[in-house]
Amino acid sequence: MMDTQESDQMTPSLELSVVVPVYNEIESVEMLCEQLHAACAPLEKTYEIILIDDGSKDGTWEKLSELITQYPCFTIIQFRRNFGQTAAMSAGFHAAKGRAVITLDADLQNDPKDIPLLLNKMDEGYDVVSGWRKDRQDAFINRKLPSMIANGMISRITGVPLHDYGCTLKAYSYDIVKNLHLYGDMHRFIPALASWVGGTIAEVPVDHHARRFGTSKYGISRTWKVLLDLITVKFLLRYSAHPIQMFGKIGAFFGIPGFIMLTSMLAGTVGYNFCGIESLGMFVEMSKSPAWVIMSFMLVFFFVQFITMGLLAEIQIRTYHESQSKPIYVVKDSKASSAARRS
Ligand code: UDP
Ligand code: MG
Repeated sequence: MMDTQESDQMTPSLELSVVVPVYNEIESVEMLCEQLHAACAPLEKTYEIILIDDGSKDGTWEKLSELITQYPCFTIIQFRRNFGQTAAMSAGFHAAKGRAVITLDADLQNDPKDIPLLLNKMDEGYDVVSGWRKDRQDAFINRKLPSMIANGMISRITGVPLHDYGCTLKAYSYDIVKNLHLYGDMHRFIPALASWVGGTIAEVPVDHHARRFGTSKYGISRTWKVLLDLITVKFLLRYSAHPIQMFGKIGAFFGIPGFIMLTSMLAGTVGYNFCGIESLGMFVEMSKSPAWVIMSFMLVFFFVQFITMGLLAEIQIRTYHESQSKPIYVVKDSKASSAARRS
């Protein structure tokens, strides 16, 4: 999630950091390093290229160790085991010192030649520039179609419309990456998280190539994981400051019919038996049906459960903010006049 305070007071000491997660990509890394160097060296910027080996078992680390002796400005980080692409990107963000931070895949599907394109867009003042694989070179059924559906859903639900959340080739400002806390597979939601703290987002079409070596690390099951993450992101963005409002809504969904059923049975029984109102007889019949009685009590019980969960979540959210002295707002800048006024 985005931190809601300026947790990192450091300022960037370079102009560009390129962050690349690498997992079992031994055949690609040689061309990758060559292409990254060819793309960054002529930029006339101070830069670094950070490759994070996410626990590869195919000799990628050894190959990278050898390759970085041939090029300047490379840093490599090795994980003890495979922690996942988001964790690898997060390690890169922690290490990054660049005013602009660009991420891309190691499998050569993203083209390092697009780096200047993203940087030019960043120079227009955007906090995030997202690559859009307009002509995506992946299979339709198990890649492009689920991705189209996921992009549509993420855009709608987060309110940040992008064509391609899944494209790793993206540029972020230093401020954004230093205040991110990523969990699970959340790297694809960074634009939505950035927009929530007032970041500006742009999109540029980028090149995309078919995978030349090795195989994708993900299967179709990723779609389900993305949907679960989407629910988490939506909840955190919309309700993290007041969770009881969400639990209250779900509670009301069960509680309203439950209360109507219960009160109609009670009012009917009292009205028919004690006041002799004949028309209320049907409610007496209802209250004799075990299914009806169980159902109404169950719905009211769900209501109580959700409200109680909401209260617990409210306590949790206070612990979350107060234990880390996290405010519930985000400050962009603050200024004061040079001298305090004397009274
Ligand atoms: N990757 C990683 N850790 C993982 C899985 C993938 O660092 O656990 C890296 C992988 O080496 C590649 C990028 O993340 O650089 C994207 O992975 P992949 O190309 O398999 O995904 P796809 O392009 O099929 O979406
Ligand atoms: Mg790929």
